[in-house]
Amino acid sequence: MQETPEVALAVYAHPDDADVACGGTLARWAVAGAAVHLVVCTDGGKGTFDPEVKSSELAAVRAAELEESSALIGLASVVNLGYPDGELVDSDSFREVLVRTVRRLRPGVVCGHDPTAMFFGQEYFNHRDHRIAGAALLDAVVPAAALPLYFPSAGPAHQVATVLLSGTLEPDEWVDVSGTIDRKAAAVECHRTQFAEPGGWAGEAIRLRAEEEGRRAGVPFAEGFRRLTLGG
Ligand SMILES: [Zn+2]
Repeated sequence: MQETPEVALAVYAHPDDADVACGGTLARWAVAGAAVHLVVCTDGGKGTFDPEVKSSELAAVRAAELEESSALIGLASVVNLGYPDGELVDSDSFREVLVRTVRRLRPGVVCGHDPTAMFFGQEYFNHRDHRIAGAALLDAVVPAAALPLYFPSAGPAHQVATVLLSGTLEPDEWVDVSGTIDRKAAAVECHRTQFAEPGGWAGEAIRLRAEEEGRRAGVPFAEGFRRLTLGG
């Protein structure tokens, strides 16, 4: 995908997800002048193996990490909806919040989790919050945000033109992030509670992954997505 949207909205489950999933793409658009907004659904307060950590304290640290990474990406706004980590529910009220956000910001492109991705090889399966956030976002974009009789008090209807789903097993669209891969790697490394290993391990892993996608796209570094073109 070559074009830069005027307004883009990314909706991800946890504070580090957008940077890992599509930080290079969001930074590329921001550098090109787009207004790039991020909604994080949960507070990330359970993202630790340490039983001594207090969830509210972890959430506060992760909010600070997100603020730092968002400045590197160049986001126009970041909102954390503050749902408890691991407890996201695909409810009417959650979808209404997403519809209200889409109708207020009126993005041309929306990025989120691919809710159909379940198993990534034998070592990882997709986090429940990712699946739920992705499904709720799709349902919020179409039909709800696009049709005025859904959530009529949530603002005037808006048709999103393009959805890019990351963390997908079936990518069919790539964004060249060769110009922003360093910014993406640095943004991911801001999430120190999640990627604590010293020596830039996370940044290196991010580069290798983007290189792999780049080979599929014929560019040095890329991010892959499942694309939906919805009109509008
Ligand atoms: Zn996550």
